[in-house]
Amino acid sequence: MNCRSSFARLLSGNAASGAHYRVLVVGGGTGGLAISSSLSRKLGRDKVAVIEPSDVHYYQPMFTLVGSGIKKFEQTRRPMRNVMPRHVTWIQDGASEFDPDNKTVVTVNGNKLYYDYLVVAAGLQIDVDKIKGLRESIGSGGISTNYLPDTVQKTWKFLEEFQGGEAVFTFPNSAVKCAGAPQKIMYLAEHRFRQRGLRDKSNVTYYTALPVIFGAKKYADRLSEIVDEKSIGVNYRHDLIEIDSTRKEAVFENLETKEKVVQKYDFMHVTPPMGPMDFLKASPLVDGAGWVDVDKNTLQHKRYPNVFGIGDCTNVPTSKTAAAVAGQSGVLKRNLLSHMNGQPLTKRYDGYTSCPLPVSYGKLLLAEFDFDGQPLETFPINQRKERLAFYIMKREILPHMYWNYLLKGHWEGTSTVRKLLHLGTSV
Ligand SMILES: Cc1cc2nc3c(=O)[nH]c(=O)nc-3n(C[C@H](O)[C@H](O)[C@H](O)COP(=O)(O)OP(=O)(O)OC[C@H]3O[C@@H](n4cnc5c(N)ncnc54)[C@H](O)[C@@H]3O)c2cc1C
Repeated sequence: MNCRSSFARLLSGNAASGAHYRVLVVGGGTGGLAISSSLSRKLGRDKVAVIEPSDVHYYQPMFTLVGSGIKKFEQTRRPMRNVMPRHVTWIQDGASEFDPDNKTVVTVNGNKLYYDYLVVAAGLQIDVDKIKGLRESIGSGGISTNYLPDTVQKTWKFLEEFQGGEAVFTFPNSAVKCAGAPQKIMYLAEHRFRQRGLRDKSNVTYYTALPVIFGAKKYADRLSEIVDEKSIGVNYRHDLIEIDSTRKEAVFENLETKEKVVQKYDFMHVTPPMGPMDFLKASPLVDGAGWVDVDKNTLQHKRYPNVFGIGDCTNVPTSKTAAAVAGQSGVLKRNLLSHMNGQPLTKRYDGYTSCPLPVSYGKLLLAEFDFDGQPLETFPINQRKERLAFYIMKREILPHMYWNYLLKGHWEGTSTVRKLLHLGTSV
């Protein structure tokens, strides 16, 4: 056991067995740290515990910038003990079973933990094995993904080794965290090929399971123009099902006709299918699809009022992003405290999510929207237009906001800034 005042109290092995916490948080990723930071400040030392198995926390939104050579991998990660809030107890273990009727969680190591309130923030899982041949081929022979810390550096390596030919980018037939990331890397790669004089001897092709380039129409309209301007081929409703790395061929299924399409590749960025965590799917906390079943506005569980959910693991119908987590964190924190005090839940999440799409080295389109894909923009300027200022914000300012404000529970999305900046435009 490690017990130092400047760090969270760390419990590993069986040290936590039988312990009881006022609030137990499952997952120490973006949502789990944001919530446990602010709740532990409010409730005091040793009232909040976080179950988190990993030694390392990644700032995942920066993976796109690592894959495109803009940032170093080291800039995306920090030791978990450095980001775990001081006043929480960190249980370094995985959650395994939930018994919400008896308010207990059993961990992978077999420890039973008791809680008054539970916050589920366990993220989602990347299902590499759902694509035949992907597990064996990823990270070699020109195939990579920015979605895994183990392979994100390979994206940049393979892009720099690319000497022209077929560059292929995919979007799966599943939920995806940051649904813009599969195409962000494509725009940056395309620009890089131009910088290196390779564009004339390269085809850049996007295969997406979706029927549209992007979910929110305002930005989809501009992105459709951008793919045309860049001569990027787009195949809608196509799902990657198999990779033959010996022949350097990818097999896609046309989701409308069920026909198989074979595509040669020299470089391929794969976005693997994603879904709910297996240990959550087996729990009573989820809906039919396996996502934690919460009210989309209050973030309170639909059947267990002392349970709340945040982020990628939930069925909140918005694009799964860290920006959405920021918007949800303030709502969840306030509603949970209200519930503790026997008061009604008055805070409502509006679906705010954001997708900063770099469309070249130096230009970024900042998509921000609600549950219905309607713009919820922070800045009172035309955000349909890609800008250098937004690119610099993504590269320099958002990382700072993430580490110093969001993870510490001080950044609750842009609603206040939005209201302030739009004062002048709304009157
Ligand atoms: C390539 C890429 C680009 C992205 N770009 C952007 C972007 O530009 N903007 C943006 O806002 N978002 C972006 N995102 C998405 C963003 O990173 C996620 O939506 C966000 O981190 C989700 O937070 P979370 O807390 O729900 O899950 P996570 O941050 O993934 O945290 C889940 C935590 O649960 C832990 N866990 C796993 N199993 C267990 C278990 N059994 N018990 C307990 N804990 C467990 C994990 O170790 C992890 O720490 C991007 C993501 C990727 C991969």
